[in-house]
Amino acid sequence: MKSQASFWEADVSKNRYDLIVVGAGIVGLSSALFYKRKHSEKQVLVLDRASHPLGASTRNAGFACVGSIGEHLADMEKESEKNIGRRIIRRYRGLQLLKETLGEKAIGYEACGGYEFFNSQQKFKEVAPEIDHFNGWLEELLGEEGVYEAQRLEGYPVIYNRLEGALHPGKMMQELIRKTSESGVEIRWNAPVQEVGSSGEVELQNGESSSLILKGQNVLMAVNGFARKLLPEIEVHPARGLVLVTDEQDVMPWKGTFHHDRGYIYFRNIGNRLLIGGARNIAVEEEETNQFGINERIKDYLIGFVSNVLRLPPGWQIDYEWSGIMGFTPTKTPIVERVDGCRYIAAGLSGMGIAIGMDVGRSAAEMMD
Ligand SMILES: Cc1cc2nc3c(=O)[nH]c(=O)nc-3n(C[C@H](O)[C@H](O)[C@H](O)COP(=O)(O)OP(=O)(O)OC[C@H]3O[C@@H](n4cnc5c(N)ncnc54)[C@H](O)[C@@H]3O)c2cc1C
Repeated sequence: MKSQASFWEADVSKNRYDLIVVGAGIVGLSSALFYKRKHSEKQVLVLDRASHPLGASTRNAGFACVGSIGEHLADMEKESEKNIGRRIIRRYRGLQLLKETLGEKAIGYEACGGYEFFNSQQKFKEVAPEIDHFNGWLEELLGEEGVYEAQRLEGYPVIYNRLEGALHPGKMMQELIRKTSESGVEIRWNAPVQEVGSSGEVELQNGESSSLILKGQNVLMAVNGFARKLLPEIEVHPARGLVLVTDEQDVMPWKGTFHHDRGYIYFRNIGNRLLIGGARNIAVEEEETNQFGINERIKDYLIGFVSNVLRLPPGWQIDYEWSGIMGFTPTKTPIVERVDGCRYIAAGLSGMGIAIGMDVGRSAAEMMD
């Protein structure tokens, strides 16, 4: 790579960082924080292309969840029970790590529980007989007794999960940025990385015609759904997710976090507002993109669900709508590995990054010198 920077700019940037992390989402910042805590003398830099984390970490639904029985059963059609057991442990421990590291208050954590929601009695009858088996299994895996329980809510059958909760992703990232900066990590915003070379050269694009090359002893790419832009061969596929938030309702019957249809649809309350998202499965190919945007078909579907199934009173409105970009691996297991030379990757959180993001970041920090 040839530098287009001035001699002076290049001169001050030629000192090698011990670690450069590309991407300031939950994974990138956690990797930098845990690496710096272990190696306080080392120089660590985090680069993000935007003025704030712009992928999934501040654009998600804020579910702190270990998974519904329906989701685990669907995963078992593709993966071994052993792998799914490992993932449940990772989600559970990842949430503990997140709460311990940042503090429950700082991330707006609410131990409200999670519900698997069924609008068909037949679907409920397929899943409910598994409750005892899953309770035994989670007791073995996590040492937690009686995790799942069948209940009824607003006339619908639900399976309650007492381990789950909700948090405020904006506050979570704010606190993570604060703690990471405080540890001595340098964070640069508006710093889009064009290319990462196997010897640790990181090319930053500044406007149309100027670029700057930084050097890292180790370079970690933590860009999740955007990973293929830097590593076209990597098996992390982008997936866009849509979220809607309603106006304040006089009464909010849906309190807590809710999963429906194997986790494809999710909803929760934010005070007296309803947040609903997902339904990516009705337009899988269209949503395999790393471009932000609103899919009107999915939006209409979610609106219909709120009116007809959740039955918010007529006249409810959408106050916020946004999309975020996730990264999925074929098995939903994240890729945390050395690519070659100085290059490492931690990506493919597969829609579970609140639960596993900090743990993935810590594993990434441990694999580098
Ligand atoms: C709509 C939606 C709802 C979700 N809901 C939940 C939920 O309720 N619970 C849960 O556990 N998970 C949820 N997730 C998933 C979770 O948010 C992600 O798994 C997690 O945030 C991924 O974190 P990350 O750090 O790997 O990636 P990201 O947060 O996407 O961070 C990647 C960062 O890399 C930066 N970047 C990209 N390319 C470059 C470049 N070339 N140069 C410099 N910087 C770059 C981006 O700006 C971004 O800040 C949801 C995701 C979405 C989209």
